[in-house]
Amino acid sequence: MAARAKQTKFIFVTGGVLSGVGKGITAASIGTILKARGLSVNIQKCDPYLNVDAGLLNPREHGEVFVTKDGAETDLDVGHYERFLDEDLTQASSLMSGRVLLKVIEDERAGKYQGEDVQIIPHLTAAIQDNITEAAKGFDVHIVEIGGTVGDIESLSFLEAIREMSLKLGPDNCLFVQVVYLPYLGTSGEFKTKPAQNAVRELLRLGIAPDILMARSEFKPPARVVIPKLSMFSGVEQRAIVLLPNAQTIYQVPLTLEEAKIADFITQRLNLRNHKPDMNAWHRIVKSALTRYRKTIRVGVIAKYTDNQDTYFCVFEALRTAGWANEVNVDIVWVNAEILPRDSKEQAKLETLDAIIVPGGFGPRGIEGKVLAATYALDNKVPYLGLCLGLQVALIAAARRAGLKGANSTEFDKSTPDPVVSTMAEQIGKENTGGTMRLGDYTCLLERGSAARKAYGQEKIVERHRHRYEANNKYRDSYEAWGLKGSGVSPDGTLVEMIEAIDHPYFLTTQAHPEFLSRPARPHPLFTGLLRAVLNK
Ligand code: GLN
Repeated sequence: MAARAKQTKFIFVTGGVLSGVGKGITAASIGTILKARGLSVNIQKCDPYLNVDAGLLNPREHGEVFVTKDGAETDLDVGHYERFLDEDLTQASSLMSGRVLLKVIEDERAGKYQGEDVQIIPHLTAAIQDNITEAAKGFDVHIVEIGGTVGDIESLSFLEAIREMSLKLGPDNCLFVQVVYLPYLGTSGEFKTKPAQNAVRELLRLGIAPDILMARSEFKPPARVVIPKLSMFSGVEQRAIVLLPNAQTIYQVPLTLEEAKIADFITQRLNLRNHKPDMNAWHRIVKSALTRYRKTIRVGVIAKYTDNQDTYFCVFEALRTAGWANEVNVDIVWVNAEILPRDSKEQAKLETLDAIIVPGGFGPRGIEGKVLAATYALDNKVPYLGLCLGLQVALIAAARRAGLKGANSTEFDKSTPDPVVSTMAEQIGKENTGGTMRLGDYTCLLERGSAARKAYGQEKIVERHRHRYEANNKYRDSYEAWGLKGSGVSPDGTLVEMIEAIDHPYFLTTQAHPEFLSRPARPHPLFTGLLRAVLNK
């Protein structure tokens, strides 16, 4: 990211009415249209949860944990930011309340407040501001999304912190965007603005006047008469109110913002240069996403959680993107790993699949189903991609097929006679604690002649990681006898990073999480390879 030494402009994005209406996508899309004008943009999520990071949050409720290159365990919005900005972000892009509270409390214990009463205002708010200012350094624009909705008790300190920042920096350097929701009332056939009015009033009560309103809605776009109405009640200029009805693809949102000419407003208000934007890449992405291709590939995702798309968001997104590159539709089929070993209907699903993915996961629930799916892929030569846990269960499956009936990972069976997957030495005793895994970027060297090397087209790769267990080196000499080969290792040779099946059209597994590196305009080779293997069959 290009760094320049000048006053960074801040765009604060808050939400009203209700959460989950796409505030993250909206914030990311603002970043997209500004970056397309040649501005350097950073983006940060302030999350009001008292957690220190997203590492220990339940992915079923909160959505997947997104891992940055420097190993931060963050909210899935950071993944949206990376895909929309096409930049690698860092820990600086994710601030949960717990992290900043911990810092304040640690400073208090260390005597840094020198006898003062330590308070939410000004101490916690100052610590928040320091964190935001630090993340913004060197960028033309820094976008800050405040999680949750205005009015939540938890988010008050963040809102107060950004209010104080805007006073210090002045109106030329700060801009507030409020994302509201317009519910549709079927009985009268109209969109109602009252909840949005109340949400703006709540923000005003906290001392923040929005400059821009983004009005999300479902179904068709609301009639434009809502704009003068919203403007009158909120004090926001009509040209700064953008209607954002549900898009057919999230990648359409930057184009909708362009049509609304909101970048003109933003750049004028913040005295930023407003070059003609290059949105060609986005037009291509949207076109790919909306094309219905001739062929459809059915990919089974063998999962423990099967009711929330957000739990495996990056995996699904990587698959869809790989589909565009191969000009196929990807039909994602949930297979419930927990019931798979005993439910014949669930087992019958396997036969309908063109390819299988076992994504990352933790804990014993659903493991036998995942081992069964890997065994099925080996037996029937079905293209298979194993992501982190997907490598580990493939190793267990291959070992059991070769006669080691009790083979397992010590994560699932502490007393297994054949621990083909076991705790990394550095991880012993750290189970169930946050931020202690092998996290973030690690290099891997790929074996000459391996399918992995062919897929990546290079010897040295860097992928993001999040794991505590690893392939047990004691069994490395047996791989060949099990029909496998270690196709990628850490530079010092001690950790097997990738394993593949020898006599198989495509059976690639990795200890890493390649899904985090897939970008809409740059699909990941392991995912495109999986679909290509199906097409070549
Ligand atoms: N539970 C496994 C480990 O800790 C796999 C982790 C993952 O899939 N991210 O090693």
